[in-house]
Amino acid sequence: MGEELLVYINGEYHPKPEAKVSVYDHGFLYGDGVFEGIRAYDGVVFKLKEHIDRLYHSANTIMLDIPMTKEEMINAVLETLRRNGLRTAYVRLIVTRGVGDLGLDPRKCKRPTVIIIAEPTIVVHEAKERGLKAVITWVRRDPVDTTSHEVKSMNYLNSILAKIEANIANVDEAILLDKHGFVCEGSGQNIFIVKDGVITTPPPSTGALLGITRNTIIKIAEKLGYKVVERNVTPHELFNADEVFLTGTATEIAPVVEVNRRKIGEGEIGPITKRLMEEFDKVVRDPKEGILI
Ligand code: PMP
Repeated sequence: MGEELLVYINGEYHPKPEAKVSVYDHGFLYGDGVFEGIRAYDGVVFKLKEHIDRLYHSANTIMLDIPMTKEEMINAVLETLRRNGLRTAYVRLIVTRGVGDLGLDPRKCKRPTVIIIAEPTIVVHEAKERGLKAVITWVRRDPVDTTSHEVKSMNYLNSILAKIEANIANVDEAILLDKHGFVCEGSGQNIFIVKDGVITTPPPSTGALLGITRNTIIKIAEKLGYKVVERNVTPHELFNADEVFLTGTATEIAPVVEVNRRKIGEGEIGPITKRLMEEFDKVVRDPKEGILI
């Protein structure tokens, strides 16, 4: 691998320090764009097709016409990994509205900006090995505001506000409720609780993103013979769960051992979470589950 990472911008590769976009890009000015976080494990880009599909669905809803076919986008991701000599990596794929003027009007933006960044690692939660401490924050997900969930847009302020609350409380992660007070998700992760052997996760009606890792975990759990239920979860159920864990591409599976100072179960990583983590580790390296670099 070369000294300098190369970043793809609109078909060209730039060394990381020179990988820059215009201050007139509406992604920067207004958060007008969509993105995906993707991981590669030992040469397998896990669920790449699913990530590309979600990107194009997000773009379609905000009427952002990505100037590449899905096939071309997949090849661009693979080529970025190859050029950087990466077989295990975290990839950030971003498509913004492009360069326009200072007004909101997207018609002024003639060409979307496509950016692909590949980094060898991403560490989201250093505490993953011992289990995370979390707080329920006052920041809520609003399922009516589609830009905050189904569309994976570049507007992440409510997640960032949630993260700030976690930082203030000196814990690892924040849990957001929906507007009714039901548990929704983490700042950038889906949430699961385990009680009496049953695995439960909130439905998308709470405003939770339909995470690709969430889907994977549901499939793995069912294959292992666990009952998985999608229904509303109250904070009371969360506090009194036997096990709690978060899932996401960057986070993978992160056990939660404390919520708002209440110990979850025994206060350590639970057996079902551990079992799912082990299985997840195998699945992400399965060539059938992704696209080979
Ligand atoms: N919720 C939010 C708000 C997220 O940003 C993410 C990360 N993309 C997730 C859930 C998990 O989604 P995935 O498993 O597809 O990464």
